[in-house]
Amino acid sequence: MRERSIDTPQLYSPEGIVNSGLCIGCGSCAAQAQLQGIDTKMKFDKYGLYKPEGPASWYMTPSESFTATCPFSPAARKEDELAVHNFPASPNHSETVGRFESSYVGHVLEQDFRLQGSSGGMVTWVASELLRKGLIDGVAHVIALKDPQADGRFFKYRIARNQDELNEGAKSRYYPVEMSEVLQVIRDTPGRYAVVALPCMTKALQLLREEDEIFKARISFTLGLFCGHMKSAHFAESFAWQMGAPFKAVKEVEYRYKYPDRPANWYNAMLRLEDGTQLNKDWWHLADGDWGAGFFMSSACNFCDDVVSETADVAFGDAWVEPYSSDGKGTNVVIARSALVKDLIVAAIQEGRLQLEEVSGDFVEQTQAAGFRQRREGLAYRLTWAPKGIQPNKRVQPDADRPERSRKVIYRTRYWISKLSHSMFWIARKTGMPGIYISWARVAASFYHGIAYHKGNFGEMKKRYVEFKK
Ligand SMILES: Cc1cc2nc3c(=O)[nH]c(=O)nc-3n(C[C@H](O)[C@H](O)[C@H](O)COP(=O)(O)OP(=O)(O)OC[C@H]3O[C@@H](n4cnc5c(N)ncnc54)[C@H](O)[C@@H]3O)c2cc1C
Repeated sequence: MRERSIDTPQLYSPEGIVNSGLCIGCGSCAAQAQLQGIDTKMKFDKYGLYKPEGPASWYMTPSESFTATCPFSPAARKEDELAVHNFPASPNHSETVGRFESSYVGHVLEQDFRLQGSSGGMVTWVASELLRKGLIDGVAHVIALKDPQADGRFFKYRIARNQDELNEGAKSRYYPVEMSEVLQVIRDTPGRYAVVALPCMTKALQLLREEDEIFKARISFTLGLFCGHMKSAHFAESFAWQMGAPFKAVKEVEYRYKYPDRPANWYNAMLRLEDGTQLNKDWWHLADGDWGAGFFMSSACNFCDDVVSETADVAFGDAWVEPYSSDGKGTNVVIARSALVKDLIVAAIQEGRLQLEEVSGDFVEQTQAAGFRQRREGLAYRLTWAPKGIQPNKRVQPDADRPERSRKVIYRTRYWISKLSHSMFWIARKTGMPGIYISWARVAASFYHGIAYHKGNFGEMKKRYVEFKK
């Protein structure tokens, strides 16, 4: 084990982090406890978000290792410290997009990576290239379960060891996943692995690699996704309610069904039922379909300041600026932080396998403007009133003075919509009356749109959509 990185005598327990609304459910703590023979597991709570469970002697006891490795522990190393450690020679550095070698906009040209991916197919392509070049033996990624009703979940991490398995992981799942099971496999099976993960989970992996030499040696690459927020498992159930399908009959969920001839940012949800019926609905017509309103967001996301996986070897998002957001085939922004990944990308551009154009860090930042507002100005404001229990220790300082009044109202409304969405859904489910949740969500979304329309580009997007539908 390496020298610990914590710089404070204050220690934390899983219980403290969970009760303070700071647990994202990554599974790192459960995985570490399992290695010590402690019987822990990650389970969905009543709101459809993963939380650790284990004996009180573990769950309630503050420890140095938990304090150093929980990604939301106030004493864990911050994203930029981890990035300096992992990418010391990076030529570029920005306060928002972090340290990097180079950044790009574009998509995969070869095979059907782009068509199969949610965006430009770059995540699956990089994972595949690492496998093809013999740089790794497996990829920990997220796949859909064949029998979700029996399993009690729709998606999970697993290791892909060849191209066919890798292809099964393509597409974004706005659904909670946890890493404890797959970390066990990595611990038990020698080899070199790449892990695809959200920013908080990538941070958890980097902290774990600092603690444990085996993880350090075996997790050779981290492929980070950009992230707006993590949603609870109940978002998928809400789709079923609003599409008139019995949730127990749902076999497959797709959050971004691809229509290549429509703008990429017009999301379409798809459900496939046991009997093969396919149901589709545009997110515009879902009561909770405005991503910016924050329905079903995990409370920990209120206290995150990493939009672009600053600690990952390479990070991927959608190019949410024109003309790219209108291209339904999907376009990535990619940040190569490791020199090796950059070299792979540059070689493939020269060979005509990737259509990528080099862009500045500022360009990447613009593609995630809303995410950065929420995680910089919004976070600074939330830190002045939202924390309960353990106080988060962020790179952003508390600040209630900077945001305009209208933006404060937006941040407060988003906070309350995400908080209430969990309990309203729970009540509707408990009483067997989905209408309670759906009616509430419609009112909440209308209120949010009333205050936020003139501030963002949602109103403009909706106008275009209405025109298209005429
Ligand atoms: C919860 C969530 C929030 C996101 N928020 C934003 C955002 O605000 N802005 C933005 O630009 N992009 C965001 N993304 C990323 C975006 O949706 C695309 O995943 C990204 O652009 C890569 O597209 P692709 O076509 O290259 O990937 P693909 O080739 O489709 O591959 C996607 C990869 O992601 C893995 N994956 C899918 N779901 C998860 C998950 N829940 N956790 C970990 N790995 C997963 C898959 O296994 C696969 O390896 C988010 C993704 C998720 C899962």
